[in-house]
Amino acid sequence: MSAFKTLDDVDVKGKRVLVRVDLNVPMADGKVTDTTRIDRVVPTLTELSDKGAKVILMAHFGRPKGAVVPEMSLKPVAEATAAILSRPVAFAGNCIGEEAATAVATLADGDLLMLENARFHKGEEANDPEFAKALAANGDIYVNDAFSVSHRAHASSEGLAHLLPAYAGRSMEAELRALDAALGNPQRPVLAVVGGAKVSTKLDLLENLVGKVDRLVIGGGMANTFLAAMGKPVGKSLCEHDLGDTARRILEAAKAAGCEVILPKDVVVAKEFKAGADARCIPLDAVADDDMILDVGTDSLGSLAVHMEDTKTVVWNGPLGAFEIPPFDNGTVTAARQVAMLTKAGRLTSVAGGGDTLAALNQAGASDDFSYISTAGGAFLEWLEGKELPGVKALSAS
Ligand code: ADP
Ligand code: MG
Repeated sequence: MSAFKTLDDVDVKGKRVLVRVDLNVPMADGKVTDTTRIDRVVPTLTELSDKGAKVILMAHFGRPKGAVVPEMSLKPVAEATAAILSRPVAFAGNCIGEEAATAVATLADGDLLMLENARFHKGEEANDPEFAKALAANGDIYVNDAFSVSHRAHASSEGLAHLLPAYAGRSMEAELRALDAALGNPQRPVLAVVGGAKVSTKLDLLENLVGKVDRLVIGGGMANTFLAAMGKPVGKSLCEHDLGDTARRILEAAKAAGCEVILPKDVVVAKEFKAGADARCIPLDAVADDDMILDVGTDSLGSLAVHMEDTKTVVWNGPLGAFEIPPFDNGTVTAARQVAMLTKAGRLTSVAGGGDTLAALNQAGASDDFSYISTAGGAFLEWLEGKELPGVKALSAS
């Protein structure tokens, strides 16, 4: 892991600290409906405030595309944040210029202030140096606590790190450490579970993982593409038949890198993908022309369980089956519970991420026992693809 500084490395008392947070929370009728993203940054905000910093929050909301869109104001989010922190959070109607400067000037040590949506200015997403300078004018120190926006080189997520002394916030720090323990510098053997709908959306991810992990379990719809490429019947399953060469190339790359690829040995099929459909577990060669493969089978789960027994690290993205409709959630739920159980027993480290993956792990009641669950979405996937995230890189360079 490249070195980055944390809140342990700086004395923030009396300093104006610009903190980039991800507060792009779901809202309905002007009220925050899910506070997960706010909860995540509470430790950083309370710590800074307790240490006597003037805490200035920067964030974005929605996609106003460089224009002032009143419905995308962060004001209601500032109120929700104040409620969660049980401390006042002041609000400035512009993130730069007079209005911001005046609001910052009135802050006492320990006070909090939220600046209006940075994306109301074109310079934010363009990472315009002039805009970054205007933001920097209100701070002495920069703290990035938003891993989930760090795959974007925007002014508040990247540009600022070059203008002010830059530090990782506590949530950023936790995410970077967890990810490092999963792929950067993991205990081996490392087993990756990759599932989901399509190979085409996860090509870069598969190519990166075969070079890094010891075992790659492929499930979900994307396994069908691999099975078809190996000459197995897949009936009318979701399958990218035109990606046969790609699938074979990935299998070759895995072999060359010494990564064992684990594909389903048996599958659960139905004639239709709907609740109450007649689901059958059958061997691979028995898949009929009008069958849809919707989950991995019992033997596959047994084999996966054996592999898990002597695995030290698990990285997971993508459900093993069409988990939205039972019983096709069985593979994902069974495997998730085993990973959770082994993690809880201290036998392995587990990291998971991805929108549908999180929904599936919650459905399995397994999320709480994983070592780390990333809610970073796109940033998590880019990290799985082996890409350097600009916001993280800028922190390390600072
Ligand atoms: P994530 O959001 O965690 O990255 P994806 O979006 O890649 O995951 O994949 C999730 C989707 O994959 C789910 O909608 C699920 O129904 C679908 N899926 C998984 N297995 C199958 C399958 N065998 N056939 C069709 N769809 C599947
Ligand atoms: Mg998804």
